[in-house]
Amino acid sequence: MLELATSVQYAKGIGPRLADVLATKGIHTVDDLLHYLPFRYEDRLNPRSIPELRAGEMATVIAEVRNSGLFRTRRMPIFQMTAGQGRSRLKCIWFNATYLRDKFKPGQIVALYGKVEGDSRSGELQIVQPQFEIIGDSSEDGAADSAEQKIAASLEIGRIVPIYESIGQGRLTPRWFRRVIHTALENLTPDLPEPIPAAVRRHLSLISPREALWKVHWPDAGESLQDLQSSRTPAHIRLIFEELFFVELGLELKRREQKAQTGIAFRLDESVRAAIKKILPFHPTAAQKRALKEIASDMEKPFPMRRLLQGDVGSGKTIVAFEAAIIAMENGYQVALMAPTEILAQQHYFSARRILEAAGYRVVLLTGSLEDDRKREIRRHIAQGNAQLVIGTHALIEQKVEFDKLGMVIVDEQHRFGVLQRFKLMKKSSDVGAGVSPARAEPNSPASTAHVGTASLGRTGEDARRSTVSTGEPDVLVMTATPIPRTLALTLYGDLDVSVIDEMPPGRTPIVTRCVSDERSSEVWEFVRKQVAAGHQVYVVYPVIEENEETELKAAIKMYKELSNRIFTDLKVGLLHGRMEPDLKEQVMRLFQKGELDILVSTTVIEVGVDVANATMMVIEHAERFGLAQLHQLRGRIGRGAAKSYCVLMTGGKVSEDGERRLDAMVRTSDGFQIAELDLELRGPGEFFGTRQAGMPSFQVANLIRDRQLLEAAKREAAAVLAGPNAEISQDEINRALRYMRTRWQKTYGLVEVG
Ligand code: ADP
Ligand code: MG
Repeated sequence: MLELATSVQYAKGIGPRLADVLATKGIHTVDDLLHYLPFRYEDRLNPRSIPELRAGEMATVIAEVRNSGLFRTRRMPIFQMTAGQGRSRLKCIWFNATYLRDKFKPGQIVALYGKVEGDSRSGELQIVQPQFEIIGDSSEDGAADSAEQKIAASLEIGRIVPIYESIGQGRLTPRWFRRVIHTALENLTPDLPEPIPAAVRRHLSLISPREALWKVHWPDAGESLQDLQSSRTPAHIRLIFEELFFVELGLELKRREQKAQTGIAFRLDESVRAAIKKILPFHPTAAQKRALKEIASDMEKPFPMRRLLQGDVGSGKTIVAFEAAIIAMENGYQVALMAPTEILAQQHYFSARRILEAAGYRVVLLTGSLEDDRKREIRRHIAQGNAQLVIGTHALIEQKVEFDKLGMVIVDEQHRFGVLQRFKLMKKSSDVGAGVSPARAEPNSPASTAHVGTASLGRTGEDARRSTVSTGEPDVLVMTATPIPRTLALTLYGDLDVSVIDEMPPGRTPIVTRCVSDERSSEVWEFVRKQVAAGHQVYVVYPVIEENEETELKAAIKMYKELSNRIFTDLKVGLLHGRMEPDLKEQVMRLFQKGELDILVSTTVIEVGVDVANATMMVIEHAERFGLAQLHQLRGRIGRGAAKSYCVLMTGGKVSEDGERRLDAMVRTSDGFQIAELDLELRGPGEFFGTRQAGMPSFQVANLIRDRQLLEAAKREAAAVLAGPNAEISQDEINRALRYMRTRWQKTYGLVEVG
């Protein structure tokens, strides 16, 4: 008997060597194997007879190989195979397919699937580039008849057949998977656990796990082929829902746990309100007001805040974060503001100095590139509580900075983190300022609870016990500039409450975006000149993608030299790139900000945070190389003032089809949500945030675009379960579901601390 948790190597037909091949696709256990779903199903229940085929239809044909061979035409090699049923023949051709040369032998039985077409010259029916599978060999057992009978009884024909993606350069074929999975299902332990509470199963009419696993691989003859292809059979729904349900259960539990911890109840009285009003350089938009209200109301509560502030580039998140920081500082607490890059940290620092320091708050910048002496001095200020707002990169928290009294952590993550990373980050941000291992501060508490509760914020163990300061988990506010399609946000940010700034500050004029080939660069430079003549400033962005950092950096520098020495000899041109000394970077940025540079040539380092309202034009070189989200972020640097702004997407060389679609989307819209939707569509959810490393839960069977509705349902049901027990759900069922959820999370994400 096979258990789900059994290593896949013990399943019949696999063994250690093939198990290694499976492992490359993340298939380690029997459970993984059974969740390796067919990507397609073929109706071999009623395979077609050749004479009844019609041009234009998709068809499955089972026939015997008659002959095959490679033909060289002037343009390319063409591989041709003729298959037959009795006297009828069907021609199949593949272009450029020399690799098929020795694939077929006369007498083999093949299943062919593809679109039937009429040959333009002979009018004969044929299938071009069909998918195929050799399912038997009529020469194996001598007589063709008995072979055909054997095949008919097998897993290959006479039923709806699952088609799997091959693995290991074709070593593990669809046929191989069919056999192994079928055998594994036959040997599977009869008592599969049912971790989903009965009420939830009832609400969604879920079938049992055993039935779902069988039918997703081996559908009944009557199953709708369309439902199968679109993963909408009861079997698919059961497996997909289950996966989503346990992810959502984990997220929901995390939320509840966070809410149950001791936080800081900040006082929000008239004097604090007045302090906030005092710093505001403008009237906040309605969306900004709403966001602040939501944040402030969290901060007043005695639980730690875990809130996401989402808003397009330029929507004015920074000022809202500063307002929140004032609440904490006015209550006598320190605030840490963490940015993903040093440049962005510097940018925040400039703004904070302008807005907060001017109002009397003490702001420091702590970055890795500072001199050691200076760092030590700043750390001392922080530890002594002299510094009220500490701005730095994320390295800040990794280095265990000692705070005197940390009350709030603001994370500006732009689009770099997903939920899993954040779990780790939040754990750390709870450790921020702990200064010592919290286990030492609370000698009797088990290490696993170290990050929970009243960690000794910024004091040594002894001090913490002596301290009478009211401490608690700091509030956490996460800012992101990535507009996230709503349902994705449910998963990515399922652990956070969300505030959205969906309105731009007034006085913005829409950005005009154009796409041109770099053959027309002289016209573009002419236009740049006009902008500068009108008193404005211009960005010229050059892509540096990490893989070829060296060569591309050189190209960017060359570009700068070309622009400054030849094209704009009379203008002031500056250069900014990631490899420059921080001091120099800061100097260049300041010059640009003050308007002392007309043109800033830069790599993508300006992507985040830079804020120069007088910059009205951006030229993006090799725009075809950038991702959509990145282009959108870049463009957000202009259009920040009242003057009309222009974004020129310059392409160099050939543009792929997806590239065209990205550029086209940029020209058509500047709505971040629309762009995000398209980006998601072009890249798929896995790639939307980079890769798995972006912290997106990766799914075995679910697909966040296709399964949006199931995701919503899973979230709803997970919340209902945790609100129990009640008449519908017993405590036993809840416990069972939670136990199961923990093993899943641990296995999939290696996160033990969830739940
Ligand atoms: P984000 O961080 O969301 O990309 P910022 O906070 O940098 O956006 O704000 C973009 C620009 O808009 C800044 O120059 C900021 O001073 C300005 N701004 C923000 N809110 C308002 C407002 N309510 N009215 C006018 N200008 C605003
Ligand atoms: Mg910003």
